Amino acid sequence: MKIVMIGTGYVGLVSGVCFSDFGHEVICVDKDPRKIEMLERGEVPIYEPGLEQLMAKNVEAGRLSFSLDLKASVADAEAIFIAVGTPTRRGDGHADLSYVMAAAEEIAHAMTGYAVVVTKSTVPVGTNRQVRQVIRKARPDLEFDVASNPEFLREGAAIDDFMRPDRVVVGVTSERAKEVMGEIYRPLFLREFPIQYTDLETAEMIKYAANAFLATKITFINEIARLCEKTGADVKEVARGMGLDGRIGNKFLHAGPGYGGSCFPKDTKALARIGQDYSSPMEIVETVIRVNEDIKRRMIDKIVDLCDGTLNGKTIAVLGVTFKPNTDDMRDAPALTIVPALVGGGAKVKVVDPQGRAEGEHLLPGVHWVEDPYKATTKADCVVILTEWNEFRGLDLKKMAKKMTSARMADLRNIYTARDAKRAGFEAYIGVGRRTLG
Ligand code: NAD
Repeated sequence: MKIVMIGTGYVGLVSGVCFSDFGHEVICVDKDPRKIEMLERGEVPIYEPGLEQLMAKNVEAGRLSFSLDLKASVADAEAIFIAVGTPTRRGDGHADLSYVMAAAEEIAHAMTGYAVVVTKSTVPVGTNRQVRQVIRKARPDLEFDVASNPEFLREGAAIDDFMRPDRVVVGVTSERAKEVMGEIYRPLFLREFPIQYTDLETAEMIKYAANAFLATKITFINEIARLCEKTGADVKEVARGMGLDGRIGNKFLHAGPGYGGSCFPKDTKALARIGQDYSSPMEIVETVIRVNEDIKRRMIDKIVDLCDGTLNGKTIAVLGVTFKPNTDDMRDAPALTIVPALVGGGAKVKVVDPQGRAEGEHLLPGVHWVEDPYKATTKADCVVILTEWNEFRGLDLKKMAKKMTSARMADLRNIYTARDAKRAGFEAYIGVGRRTLG
């Protein structure tokens, strides 16, 4: 099967590499020359564990290549995937479909025979039909189908998620397209991962509904965490007790500084917008968006309280700024709300993140980047754990506390406990929804 992947971002590159590992012949196309040059040198433009090795293996096998030339790449492809960005459109919260539609137009002019044009990007209901119209208008004579194949992988665990998915969702309108999609995913099908075939609109809706549900689950436990703080309950124990109920499940029940990242913020906003457009308001989702913003701001208040009511003149070490561990992605990370507030409050902020610096440097002006958590905390008044990288899970807290001017910790990922902090000599500790020290 000859496949072309348009867009070599977090989704396109992982999908392209994994499809080539299935044995398909894949060309990954991007319009960003810097990315294609890096890929051709065997370098991965993003940080995703295991991707570089898998990419090298498939390039070596001759199944995977990269190109800036969409027209030549698409010419005799059997399936063309659109995996370009769909960020929030400025001003109104809608998904910006300009990249998807531009790609569809380019594909239309490049196709030479029957192919399935598959949208992998997260797109509002109705987009695949629009893609079909764009192609049909540009090439009324052309035989083609469109398919919706939303992606559910998580950054940081993307390869495993792609290779061992909970399900693959495929929206189609013809048997021919269904056959092509079935052939592409056959290696997974053989291993009995479920493929759900449905119509275009349902496939598009599944993706938004799933992401909005997960964002709701996170926000729910974050709200419970606030109530735990007031009532003296421990949110970690509450989440465990809830999660052991098979109807609830233990995933996405970790209280923290609010959800962020490249998907949940924009997808919840887009779904809320879709609801308004269809006069079917998504009231729960609208509330989740608002509560999540409050939660991020509440973290700032907690840090200010920990610093005796003022940040001015304080030195604060921030451990982790990416929106979650094992990625370099900073899009909509809680750090983008919290860190500028610390700088704005007059604190000297030292930041350490295993992969976030390249992205973070221009997004977080006024901070000092250091390489090591102990360097960051030396002479600091407070340490804030914002991302639960493995590197921060087994810190020598005693060593850290000794070198701090005043040993205070805001552990916004609940990695440690007030007891751990006390034993190590910290004078104050706060988590999220848990007992505090000091
Ligand atoms: P990204 O911004 O990392 O990558 C998009 C890439 O597309 C960029 O490299 C850009 O240069 C390229 N591009 C844009 N227009 C192009 C064109 N006409 N021709 C060739 N290349 C073009 O985006 P991403 O994070 O990979 O997300 C892509 C889509 O997948 C989005 O709709 C997103 O919502 C969805 N998604 C993302 C994730 C995730 O974890 N990042 C998970 C599931 C779904």
